[in-house]
Amino acid sequence: MTIEKCIFCQIAEGKMQAIKIYEDKNILAVLDINPVSEGHMLIMPKAHFEIIEEIPDDLLSLLFRLVKILSKILRQTMKATGINVYACEGKSAGQRVPHFYLNLIPSYDKEPVAVDWQRKQASKERLEEIGNKIMVEAKKEASKILSEETEKVKAKVQQEKVIKEKTEQSKQRKEVKKIKSLIGKRFP
Ligand SMILES: [Zn+2]
Repeated sequence: MTIEKCIFCQIAEGKMQAIKIYEDKNILAVLDINPVSEGHMLIMPKAHFEIIEEIPDDLLSLLFRLVKILSKILRQTMKATGINVYACEGKSAGQRVPHFYLNLIPSYDKEPVAVDWQRKQASKERLEEIGNKIMVEAKKEASKILSEETEKVKAKVQQEKVIKEKTEQSKQRKEVKKIKSLIGKRFP
């Protein structure tokens, strides 16, 4: 499939219609026309990339930040009780359009969505063999690319954790206050 004929490129260029949920200069989120569940969205870069490894880091970060925002919105507006974030790369993985996209598939208590993979048995030896093969490359590549960033991120994660704990504590305090005032009203 050439880039000119790519459906997602055509949607991004406004040559084909779609229900656009969000759009800016770089990224686009549309409703899937054959949804797995209500609210099923596709989030993609506007530029044509086939697989994740072709996408520049900054752009990838924008895509995942949009996933974060839209997940929250799906829970609030659609009352989703779960969400699958799912990407396929290549025909053998079921990629329907060779333009990278992330599926954001909400699930509901009344409409559960679970990927029905056929899981297999694996021997410990084979798992170790595969693990080692990947681990050697991952150590080389990931540590080269991520080592500097990971230090900065660690500090941020800890900061977030402290904020979250404080918010939880104040929430609990408010709850206790509320209960106490209710008890007071009932038993003056
Ligand atoms: Zn495309």
